[in-house]
Parts: sequence; structure tokens; C-alpha cells
Amino acid sequence: MGFVVFSCSHSGGALKAIDYAAPATVAEAVQLFADRGDRARALAGGTDIIVQVRENRRDLDLLVDLKNIAEVNELAFDPSKGLRLGAAVPCYKICENDAIRRAYPGLVDAASLIGGVQIQSRASVGGNLCNASPAADSIPALIAHEAVAVIAGPKGSREVPVEQFCTGPGRSALQRGEFLLRLQLPAPKPHTGSAYLRFIPRNEMDIAVVGVGAAVTLDGSTCRAARIALGAVGPTPILANDAGNALVGRSLGEADLDKAAQLARASARPISDMRGDAEYRRHLVGVLVKRSLQIAIQRAKGG
Ligand SMILES: Cc1cc2nc3c(=O)[nH]c(=O)nc-3n(C[C@H](O)[C@H](O)[C@H](O)COP(=O)(O)OP(=O)(O)OC[C@H]3O[C@@H](n4cnc5c(N)ncnc54)[C@H](O)[C@@H]3O)c2cc1C
Repeated sequence: MGFVVFSCSHSGGALKAIDYAAPATVAEAVQLFADRGDRARALAGGTDIIVQVRENRRDLDLLVDLKNIAEVNELAFDPSKGLRLGAAVPCYKICENDAIRRAYPGLVDAASLIGGVQIQSRASVGGNLCNASPAADSIPALIAHEAVAVIAGPKGSREVPVEQFCTGPGRSALQRGEFLLRLQLPAPKPHTGSAYLRFIPRNEMDIAVVGVGAAVTLDGSTCRAARIALGAVGPTPILANDAGNALVGRSLGEADLDKAAQLARASARPISDMRGDAEYRRHLVGVLVKRSLQIAIQRAKGG
């Protein structure tokens, strides 16, 4: 494991030297994060962290490049066990994988919206989650897919459901010495469909004003299970349990979708800012919940 000086932070016009480490094992990375605490941050694709350091929005001493660690590059789908998505796997690898497109269309919807092609060639879903932006596109999709974060740390590994991973804007459940190893998504049950939709004021390259991830499992024409997750309408992404549960046992007609949309609006805790006021965002939640459910249902039926 080598250290080189990586000069990328501007401080009052002067460059500040930052150490760079590229450990090859989980144990080495854990040791670095334990030794340096919050003076160290992980580097995956760098599409968030490099920008933040250059703009002095993060003051660091060390960037720990995780990409030499085999486990964080793993991308393995088994129809009976589900998906192991290494924390540093770039989005394009998810989007171009046919088996993942079929099994987790909601995740692929989200990954294919993150930035553009250039960003997707670097940006990871793991980094999108660990950056913990309330508006991150992948997080509502991960929650809809019941993803679990597998975290490596000084005491071994532990698991946290993604809906509990973010603890505030830019803050996560990661403790000193810990980093995200991979995301684990359960195998989708037969007749499951999912979707992610976001609203942005222009056609591309913008931050979600609202994002919605939805997944439904059908038993004939009846809903057996449903999960709905909301982005950009609270300090952290929200699992709208009431909305999802209200669909179970229902035939998913217009009135059922309207009910879910209304319950999801009630779960949202939006703020007003330059991107939209709280009432507008709450309205958009209802619209996007209904539309994402319609797509998820269509996909569950094989469409
Ligand atoms: C032009 C542009 C457009 C963008 N558009 C979108 C968009 O449409 N939607 C969207 O959601 N985002 C967007 N982003 C933000 C960004 O691309 C995503 O958040 C990206 O997924 C982050 O992944 P990364 O691998 O680049 O993470 P990095 O920048 O390497 O890391 C992000 C953060 O997570 C931490 N981290 C990374 N990996 C780990 C780990 N394994 N364990 C612990 N901590 C870790 C880092 O320390 C850092 O704090 C955009 C960014 C740019 C520059």
C-alpha cells in the first residue's frame, strides 16, 4: 500500500496536499479509516468527493481509494440469491447488464439517470449512497428493492437496511473505521416489477426535485407486496410504509393507486427552496408515486 501526495484542495488560493492511499485489502482500508477518523474519506468514482474537496466543502488529510480491493468491484447476480453489488462498481456496468436490467429495472432506471454517460462511467451506486444526499437518485430505488448495506469495520462486517443508512443530509450510519463493502439486493420474487422516476425542471443533468422508487409483487391480479420510497422530500430518503402496505391484497385499480399516492404525500416532509416549494413537492410525490406504480405493475406483468 503506497502513499502519494495528491494536491487537489484549494485553500485561500493555495493548493493543500492531501495523502492518497490505495489499499489492496479490506483490513488495510479499515486500519486507515480507524487511524485517521473523519480526516479520511473513501474515494470510489470521485464524482462527488473530488468536487467537494476542490471546492473546499470538505477538509481532508487522506483519500482512501477503494478500487484495488477485490470485494468492492464485485458484481454478481444469482437468480436464487440476488445481487451482490460492490460499493465501487460504476453505474454503466449495472446499466449494460441484461440480467440486472430484467431483475432490478428500478435500480437501472436510477443508475441510468445519474449524470450522463461520462459520469456513469465513474460514479458508483455505493458512492451515491455514502454521499447521503437527500436527492440521490439511487437510494429510493435501492430501498424499493429492499437493499441492505454490508459494512466492513474494525469489528468485522455488519448489515444495515438502506432505509436506515442515511441519518441526515451528508451523514450516514458509518462509524469510525467503517466503509461500505457492498450492497446486497434480494432475488426478486416471481411477478415483481419496479421503477424509479424523478422530476427535474429540465431534461437532463439536474438534481431531483422529487424522486420515487416503487416495487410491486403480484399474485394473479392481486398485490402481494409493495414498497414505495421517496427522495428529495426530507432530510433523508423515506420508506413510505403506509403507502406500500395499503396496496397489499388490493387489485391495484385506479382508486388503490390514488390511495397510495395520498398516503405517500402524507409521509413526505419537504422543504421549500429555490428548486420548488413544499406544497409543489408534495403534489409531485402523488403524481410520481402513481406513475411509478403503473410502470412497476406493467413490468410485474411482464410488460
Ligand atoms: C456532472 C454531475 C452530474 C451528477 N448527476 C447526478 C444525478 O443526476 N443524480 C445523482 O444522484 N447524483 C448525481 N451526481 C452526483 C454523483 O455522480 C453521485 O453521487 C455518484 O453516484 C457518487 O459516486 P462516486 O463513486 O463518484 O462516489 P465518490 O465521489 O467517490 O464518493 C462519494 C462520497 O461517498 C463516500 N464513499 C464512496 N464510497 C464509499 C464507500 N465504499 N464507503 C464509505 N464511503 C464511501 C466518499 O468518501 C464521498 O464522501 C452528479 C455529479 C456530477 C459531477
